[in-house]
Amino acid sequence: MSDIIPPPEVIYVDAHKVACNGGGGALGHPLTYYDLGEDGTAECGYCDRKFVHKDHAHDYVDPAPRPEGDH
Ligand SMILES: [Zn+2]
Repeated sequence: MSDIIPPPEVIYVDAHKVACNGGGGALGHPLTYYDLGEDGTAECGYCDRKFVHKDHAHDYVDPAPRPEGDH
């Protein structure tokens, strides 16, 4: 559990479709479109960037405290 490599760059979006070209330049790759799935995430097969819909971002960023009794 302690040797897990941190995931690559995560990009938060508010659309269900994203386009990635790796940022252009030497690190770029052909412009590719991805649909965010039911879980609101997509991963770029070229540059390993991960796209996360903002509605799902609470799973990945420091959230506001969840309401008590949400369980
Ligand atoms: Zn990419």
